[in-house]
Amino acid sequence: MRIGHGYDVHRLVPGRKLILGGVEIPHYLGLLGHSDADVLTHALMDALLGAAALGDIGQHFPDSDPDYLGVSSLTLLGRVVDLLAKEGWRLGNADLTILAQRPKLKDYIPQMRQNLARTMGVPVGAVSVKATTEEGLGFTGTEQGIAAHGVVLLEPQQTQ
Ligand code: MG
Repeated sequence: MRIGHGYDVHRLVPGRKLILGGVEIPHYLGLLGHSDADVLTHALMDALLGAAALGDIGQHFPDSDPDYLGVSSLTLLGRVVDLLAKEGWRLGNADLTILAQRPKLKDYIPQMRQNLARTMGVPVGAVSVKATTEEGLGFTGTEQGIAAHGVVLLEPQQTQ
């Protein structure tokens, strides 16, 4: 088995959508980025790539590439899972944490888990998503940005 960790941050700005785990969440600020800036899915992808020692998402999907302008991060997650499958790995489980002062995310978490699990071809029970505030402290606490951590376990694919 292999373990991986991913971490990502995106800045909160007016005039952008807030997308976390492929769910568009109504809020007066959104995340700035070249893609859809889905910080949760980015942390997950970096954890997956890290577990397989396959680099990071900046290397696989450079933000200088116009192909990735506004792209759904779920699309990129599907490509990461294909890459891992070629290397003989599949996801065992993922545990993800969002650090955000606002908005309240509890009601959106079931849909995030479903989106991520469906994209990765695993049962929803294999994907945990948690959210916490940092008690008003730091850049998440002052709503300058949202951060996310991801931890994953990879298992070898079953051989016939
Ligand atoms: Mg990112």
